[in-house]
Amino acid sequence: MRDILRDGLSKLGLDEARSADLEAFARLVLERNRVMNLTAITDETEFARLHLLDSAALLKLVKLDGKSVIDVGTGAGFPGVPLRILCPLARMTLLDATAKRVDFLREACQTLGLDGVECVHARAEELAAQRRESFDYATSRAVAALPVLCELCLPFVRVGGSMLAMKSTQSDEELDAAQHAIALLGGRVARVEDYTVPTSEVTHRLIVIDKVKPTPPKYPRTFGQIKKKPL
Ligand code: SAH
Repeated sequence: MRDILRDGLSKLGLDEARSADLEAFARLVLERNRVMNLTAITDETEFARLHLLDSAALLKLVKLDGKSVIDVGTGAGFPGVPLRILCPLARMTLLDATAKRVDFLREACQTLGLDGVECVHARAEELAAQRRESFDYATSRAVAALPVLCELCLPFVRVGGSMLAMKSTQSDEELDAAQHAIALLGGRVARVEDYTVPTSEVTHRLIVIDKVKPTPPKYPRTFGQIKKKPL
């Protein structure tokens, strides 16, 4: 795994020495994955590419130094943990609705000596009341379709910040369907960037939605409403 990580980081222009910490995190996930459901990807090479380097690729497109970031629906910590490992100056909040995953992340951050990472067990639409418009960036990967995802993420982002949605390249329809939600929630699509996951042939997409106006107080709604009637 180390060689792929070094190669991938060098392709991204990132410090190859951090491959050791990425690998250490991978080992913790894979070990815990034997007793709880954290990831379907257990092959080391695939793990390195599709979890670690896919997350890392975001840093080629956006600079997170000194920024506050909330990773919404982080699961086993993607993209949040690799981003924090590779960018120690980012202030990272890992958010997930599943308590066991958040417990694992707390432990993993401690084991890896990742200071200042906040691990929060909550539903995004509930936490938004306390943490509204208070992050520079909200990242997310594999959490929900874009119209729903925007209502979960955009309320957290301060005006001048952005939501960073990691999607597949087959997301044109989703993006079209989300135009109404984006406008209503105070967002504006800034960039749609396809990128190759380093060391692989896989292409993924980053959708950058800038926060240009405050989100009206009535959003986010309850999850029942969000799901039943996406904006
Ligand atoms: N981002 C990770 C995990 C994706 S699985 C990755 O790419 O590998 C989706 C995760 O989102 C699950 O862990 C689930 O608990 C979480 N999730 C779904 N809806 C959520 C919500 N409304 N608030 C917080 N977490 C949520």
